Amino acid sequence: MSTLESYLEGAWRAGGGEGVPVADAVTGELVTRVSGEGLDLAAAVAYARRTGLAALGELTFLQRAAVLKSAALALQERRQELYELSARAGATRRDAAVDVDGGIGTALVYASLARKGLPDHTLIVEDDPIPLGRGGTFAGRHVLTTPRGLSLQINAFNFPVWGMLEKLAPALLAGLPTIVKPATPTAYIAAHAVRIIADALPPGAIQLVAGSVPGLFDLLGGQDHIGFTGSAATAARLRSDPAVTRRSARFNAEADSLNCSVLGPDAVPGEPEFDLFADALVTEMTVKAGQKCTAIRRAFVPANLADAVCEAVAARLARVVVGAPDADGVTMGPLVGLAQREDVRAAVARLARAASVVCGDPDKVEVVGADAGRGAFLSPLLLRADDVDRPEPHDVEAFGPVCTLLPYRDAAGLNELIARGEGSLAGSVVSYDADFVRNVVLGAAAHHGRLLVLDRDSAGESTGHGTPMPQLVHGGPGRAGGGEEEGGLRAVHALLRRTALQGGPAMLDTITSKE
Ligand code: NAP
Repeated sequence: MSTLESYLEGAWRAGGGEGVPVADAVTGELVTRVSGEGLDLAAAVAYARRTGLAALGELTFLQRAAVLKSAALALQERRQELYELSARAGATRRDAAVDVDGGIGTALVYASLARKGLPDHTLIVEDDPIPLGRGGTFAGRHVLTTPRGLSLQINAFNFPVWGMLEKLAPALLAGLPTIVKPATPTAYIAAHAVRIIADALPPGAIQLVAGSVPGLFDLLGGQDHIGFTGSAATAARLRSDPAVTRRSARFNAEADSLNCSVLGPDAVPGEPEFDLFADALVTEMTVKAGQKCTAIRRAFVPANLADAVCEAVAARLARVVVGAPDADGVTMGPLVGLAQREDVRAAVARLARAASVVCGDPDKVEVVGADAGRGAFLSPLLLRADDVDRPEPHDVEAFGPVCTLLPYRDAAGLNELIARGEGSLAGSVVSYDADFVRNVVLGAAAHHGRLLVLDRDSAGESTGHGTPMPQLVHGGPGRAGGGEEEGGLRAVHALLRRTALQGGPAMLDTITSKE
């Protein structure tokens, strides 16, 4: 089995040595080996800074938007290839739509936002002249320009396409050359996406390094940006690197999250919100087999409705068919690999100190179209913790099809419980009682990057709890990493360097106008 190639300095090259074997999530067969051994990362960084920066610098924001659009359309044309590879990582067609189509859609939205909202220029002038003297001869303005560095994008395994494109799109628009470092278990999918778009992009605008990247941070400094998605533990390690702490490379982290969804006391069985809540819970548990940073981990339900919610969710989970992504009737695929399944089982064992498993069996699952002994299959698992003060449900992220029901008694206690997640990417409130919703939202907003309100009026068009939207901010405070991505053109602005310019108004005009 050959080693997965990295795309460096405009050419595909394989790392040396044995590499890390990556197995098919369904069959356990070897898919590829991943190795970064011997790759010349210093040359890659120099190529990004020299060739990539220069090529992107020749384009205005609008020209970069056109390039981004053509890359997205190239992916669209060949998305079937990405679906097929995604199936090897356990993704059903529905899962692949979230990653592949979601990624392409995000890139297209960015191209369109840029076309409408960015100038045909290489810099952005943020404000009109701000008078700084009585005589009108001295003023100030803020400009945003492209840093003289690169964007290193370190991605998690669960969204090899979307995760890459939601970072690449704003970087490309900002004129920053990208080096992508995909997570090892799904690096072959990200690499294929890069193969598809590489020719549509200016030279040096994208490089991809598969495998580990020893020494790479030593090459980074104050003009570079590091966009990290992954676990809080890795984020903590990387953000303490001297590249960040001494040389001030910008560092943005998107990390784990104990996302919650809250059912309102008004949403009793028979009300539409009760069903919307149960449906959303099951969707979030099963899409991507729950391997989603935004999936609902803590489901807060009024204590008097806990039994009814358990029953409703169990009835829906009973209809979930686990198996090979391409087998008939399958609605949930395996986890990405056996190691990931072991991690999830270990997390469930920790959760089980405080909660009981009320639906599913961590050690047994019926599987359709595949050998349960070879693939990384796991039953969806609903837990219930009646002692909501135990730390585990608020602290342990089981990154799989796992959710814990937590009964709450009153609104004041609820806000405290939500806050115990210590910062989340996404939360939702499912209720038709505006006072209740307002109370929860205002109490929870500071702990969340995104909050969804779901009720009978908005459900038809709602994009759902777990779906980040390119127009809206994705990220969360505290444990969720403290970072912010997407949010429309905010993401582009955030990658640019803001400088306050002072001088005579006419001079400032000359400097900031195009030619
Ligand atoms: P991970 O083990 O922390 O790895 C994340 C990325 O960091 C991978 O590309 C990994 O590469 C890389 N990495 C690890 N050590 C590194 C080092 N010393 N230098 C440079 N890169 C390094 O996380 P994961 O298992 O891929 O993803 C699951 C976690 O990500 C979950 O906790 C989930 O909550 C979180 N997540 C968060 C978001 C979000 O948007 N907030 C989205 C998705 C996932 P290798 O794979 O080669 O080790």
